[in-house]
Amino acid sequence: MESDANHNRNIPTGKSYPKLSKATSGYLEIEHFKHADLHTGYFCYNCTYFIKDTHCAIVHDSGPDVNGTKSEIIAPYGVCTLWHPNEGEVR
Ligand code: SF4
Repeated sequence: MESDANHNRNIPTGKSYPKLSKATSGYLEIEHFKHADLHTGYFCYNCTYFIKDTHCAIVHDSGPDVNGTKSEIIAPYGVCTLWHPNEGEVR
């Protein structure tokens, strides 16, 4: 019989977790990739956590990135160390 601990693991808690800062996540934007094919390679655009057009579910929009650059958005051509492929967007 399944224990209560195992059973409860699948129940959504509805709890919201604080977002990470850009610097903590390792986020950066490379201007050079602004017009690249964002379906290929590692970009926020094809990441599971990206919220179109300029947000991320787990990283803040504002604050300095790892290079100290401030942009006030999560750019589609940006990326961070938490990147995870969105199978619907990766080619
Ligand atoms: S790579 Fe993914 S997790 Fe990281 S900032 Fe971009 S959308 Fe968010």
